[in-house]
Amino acid sequence: MHKDPLVDSSIIQGITAFRGSVFPGQRQMYRRLVRDGQQPKALIIACADSRVAPEHITQAGPGELFVCRNAGNIVPPFAEMNGGVSSAIEYAVVALGVRDIVVCGHSDCGAMKGLMQPGALKDMPNVAAWLRHSHAADRIVCEAYPDDIDPADRLRALALENVVVQLAHLRTHPSVAAALARGRLSLHGWFFEIETGTLHAYDGNRFVALTDDGALPVAEISVPRRAAPDMAASIAAE
Ligand SMILES: [Zn+2]
Repeated sequence: MHKDPLVDSSIIQGITAFRGSVFPGQRQMYRRLVRDGQQPKALIIACADSRVAPEHITQAGPGELFVCRNAGNIVPPFAEMNGGVSSAIEYAVVALGVRDIVVCGHSDCGAMKGLMQPGALKDMPNVAAWLRHSHAADRIVCEAYPDDIDPADRLRALALENVVVQLAHLRTHPSVAAALARGRLSLHGWFFEIETGTLHAYDGNRFVALTDDGALPVAEISVPRRAAPDMAASIAAE
């Protein structure tokens, strides 16, 4: 598959350029990040797709984003799978105290195409198994969208619904549920349109394109809440 078994020379050149001309100018910043520790603004769960780089899209520098990427920007529901995504969420919320979590899907997503064409995954059993966490999105598109929907529109709808499904999975994680109940966390659903560079954000009902002067819609802004009604007095006392 690869023309050359060695690491692509452009990657080596990039490392050399970073060490030679970039890092010297950022040495103090990196030292400060080690001395003070990281305080990222948000956790971003994005697709592993090489065209969807969260730091690039947001123009964020080192230390600014805690990033977790996987095929399909998937968040397994809590307890169903102990793995990297669950651990990244827990660490970001509990240890780093991030106040925002973003699930970022995108156009032309290979994982979503795999969902639409399961036969294409016959040689990729791990991918097929991983994508079961997106089956709810697939069913939503199958049953709640028109039957004659154009394949391109279907792919887009699937990617958007998948972001919404993964936001729901996020809420099943105890660290996220607790932070939401304390009013210390906001959830965001994003969709990056590669071909136009447009970012669409979920407002809790639908995705809207971000304009230069528009505020970024938020999927869920939490406010402190307790379901137990007889605790009302102690809430007021705090
Ligand atoms: Zn993707």
